[in-house]
Amino acid sequence: MTITVIGGGLAGCEAAWVVSSFGLRVKLIEMKPVKYSPAHKSADLAELVCSNSLRSSDLSSAVGLLKEELRILGSIVVRSADLTAVPAGRALAVDRELFAKSVSRFIQENGLISVERREVTAIPHPDDGPVIVATGPLTSEGLANSISDLIGETGLSFYDAIAPIVTADSLDMTRLFRASRYEDGEGAYLNAPMDEQTYLGFVDEIIRAKKVNPHPFEDIQHFEGCLPIEELARRGPQTLSFGPMKPVGLIDPKTGRRPYAVVQLRAENTRGSLYNLVGFQTKMTYAEQQRIFRMIPGLENADFERLGSVHRNTYIDAPNALDEFSRLIKAPHVFFAGQITGVEGYVESTASGFVVGMYAALLSKGVHPIIPESNTAIGALIKHTRDKPLKKYEPMNVNYGMMDEVSVRSKKHKKELRAKIGLESIGSLKIRLDELREQLR
Ligand SMILES: Cc1cc2nc3c(=O)[nH]c(=O)nc-3n(C[C@H](O)[C@H](O)[C@H](O)COP(=O)(O)OP(=O)(O)OC[C@H]3O[C@@H](n4cnc5c(N)ncnc54)[C@H](O)[C@@H]3O)c2cc1C
Repeated sequence: MTITVIGGGLAGCEAAWVVSSFGLRVKLIEMKPVKYSPAHKSADLAELVCSNSLRSSDLSSAVGLLKEELRILGSIVVRSADLTAVPAGRALAVDRELFAKSVSRFIQENGLISVERREVTAIPHPDDGPVIVATGPLTSEGLANSISDLIGETGLSFYDAIAPIVTADSLDMTRLFRASRYEDGEGAYLNAPMDEQTYLGFVDEIIRAKKVNPHPFEDIQHFEGCLPIEELARRGPQTLSFGPMKPVGLIDPKTGRRPYAVVQLRAENTRGSLYNLVGFQTKMTYAEQQRIFRMIPGLENADFERLGSVHRNTYIDAPNALDEFSRLIKAPHVFFAGQITGVEGYVESTASGFVVGMYAALLSKGVHPIIPESNTAIGALIKHTRDKPLKKYEPMNVNYGMMDEVSVRSKKHKKELRAKIGLESIGSLKIRLDELREQLR
């Protein structure tokens, strides 16, 4: 049996290697150097298109835990990053050329993996065997059209306009009030009220903030209903107070009056551990977002689990289009892995590649796959791609708020305990996978 992997990026390489570790043959198809996306430049596999950092190595950060879990599981991407690391304090940064060459070597020297260089423009037929699509945020147009034909146009998005997310336990609830517009009683939103002076100062900071320059291929035509807040602020000092910050239908119980403006926060998960700043998609730099959003009453000490952005990103509506093993419900021979499933970031895409490679291999061998538990960073991340969202499905970086709750009050101890539980759980998963590899090879 041969499994086809389309896309030789981080997810595709990791998935191909995991599939081969179960003794299965892999055909890895990468379109470079025949064709390049607007951001890819090198013919190597596993190219890092922007930053050379795989972010924090610290276990107090969920991405640090995710990397450690992948390291335990034997990820070739994390191993290559360790082998080609450059000094970066508590982060894991790499020499990008050596990194890509290291991953490419792992693939090329693997006798079970063959690499073809061509663009795939249509999803292969079921008779050609299982296929893992890992073509990333810049999937070529031909293939994107073929995916759309399979899942329907609304199932595929091409841009991300995402608003920041904060943890509930970092909010000062004494400064916020709970209410939904025009409704009595316990409302669905947390509202951060502002008086006129605070509002005008806030708008002024947004206008003056440093913004991220778009890549040349990201000439985004903004939809009027989804404009970045700085674009609204630029149109006039009152525009935001008639848009996402409008106070109509809201009474601040402390003053008994309608505030001048509000920032609304909506629960991001059923547990209510994460809150989204409604309508606050932005292209301000990450540092500016943290500085300016902490000016919002109640958010002075906010922990940001995700920051806002507006960028080119092809991703499918994974919770509705895929089954529990990341297969298309409408075409179960097709698996999806990496950023195209709505995980965000180099390490997250690698993690998705690992898990989906494992699912595809085990199902091909007739074994019911093991689903990593959501007390691990990797399991919690994959769960994000499966859980039906409260609103529209949006891509997400890994974060501690996704993981199972633990009953500890202190934030620091909570993260330490989650990391400890996660690593123990991954240790057990590794033992089970090694046993299965022994049996199945
Ligand atoms: C401009 C840009 C900047 C980014 N910067 C960062 C960053 O700094 N840090 C971060 O963590 N994440 C960043 N990301 C997100 C990053 O792309 C992903 O996190 C990660 O690279 C996705 O991994 P992947 O394997 O899913 O896709 P990719 O790494 O993009 O790999 C997909 C591969 O599929 C190939 N391919 C595409 N279509 C076809 C086809 N039809 N046939 C055959 N092959 C095909 C591509 O050539 C590519 O090699 C950035 C994304 C973009 C677009």
